Amino acid sequence: MSELRYPWDKHPTAGTTQEVAPGVRWLTMPMGGSLNHINLYLLEDTNGWWVVDTGLGLPQTETLWREIFASELAGRPVVGVICTHMHPDHIGQALMITDEFRCPLYMTRSEYYQARAFSSMSGSSHSSWLGQAFFQRAGMPADYMEQLALMWSKRASTGMSMPQMPGGFTRLQDNDVLNIGGNEWRIVVGSGHSPEHACLFASSLKILISGDQVLPIITSNVSVHPTEPNANPLKVWLESHDKFNQIPADTLVLPAHNLPFYGVRERLRELISHHEDRMLAIEEHCAQAPAVAKELLPVLFKRELDPRQMMMALGEAIAHLHLLMHRNRIERTLNEDGLYHFRSIDPDLKRRSHPLDHDAPIDGPVLV
Ligand SMILES: [Zn+2]
Repeated sequence: MSELRYPWDKHPTAGTTQEVAPGVRWLTMPMGGSLNHINLYLLEDTNGWWVVDTGLGLPQTETLWREIFASELAGRPVVGVICTHMHPDHIGQALMITDEFRCPLYMTRSEYYQARAFSSMSGSSHSSWLGQAFFQRAGMPADYMEQLALMWSKRASTGMSMPQMPGGFTRLQDNDVLNIGGNEWRIVVGSGHSPEHACLFASSLKILISGDQVLPIITSNVSVHPTEPNANPLKVWLESHDKFNQIPADTLVLPAHNLPFYGVRERLRELISHHEDRMLAIEEHCAQAPAVAKELLPVLFKRELDPRQMMMALGEAIAHLHLLMHRNRIERTLNEDGLYHFRSIDPDLKRRSHPLDHDAPIDGPVLV
């Protein structure tokens, strides 16, 4: 069982902020679906405030921000906006806030350019032969691309489409230090959930702002997408944990979803063991007979998935398969039927396997 400790049992009311440490304030912005909200943070500097992540690009989010500007910043401006990564719930209001205060946007380079590329949606892999090949090889039905296209067309109203980005940025890199209000905030870059995800760690406060890299309850989506069909994101995600394991055990983690918590190392242990368990279950499945990626979804997820959840779930299944291929435990062949078949090849699997003793499949992939 999880040994995490949560110092607060509920989120601040929308439009208000709550101090979690001297000069560090917590606020939330609404999101649809089971996630319900995203956590954002304000850091107090000598001349104003830094904003860490910004919420979805919806009118109601902008309205709430304007309430916060008016009532929660003690009449002082925003002096910088930091986006941990390029997902729409993190960057949705970056343009509005940086325009309002004429302040810089801070992001890592991969995240900034990926956000800009996706917001133009030119050359989208999901609507081309690249997407077609990716999904067909995974065993998806021929009309799946049409289902996805319909889903994309409905997304704009939920704020989950990619917003327009500020025209320039200040680059963050791993180990950079931002001096904010007398505290040194070190950038710790993780990967796997997104390409170059920035977390912020202040040793003077023992606080880690973890974005979506480390979450206490849900597991961040770690997926292979048609844009880079041979990527190995689970490998780099697990490797990123080495860095976060060096953070002091009594650090307060401020995540982008769920509640702030203590217990970063316990959480990392849980996450690693969860993914190792999923990979072993996949190996056992692919030892009985070669399988296509789609057949592995019930091994990982228990509920019916809509087209978008299906895309995330498939991406996660393929991420697990690619790490297993890297470890020489699974072999992939492109058969005459045009499908990728995955087969377990590790002679040691019999000794390692315990098919009756796995974590139950989880409810569904989380769309963060
Ligand atoms: Zn994310």
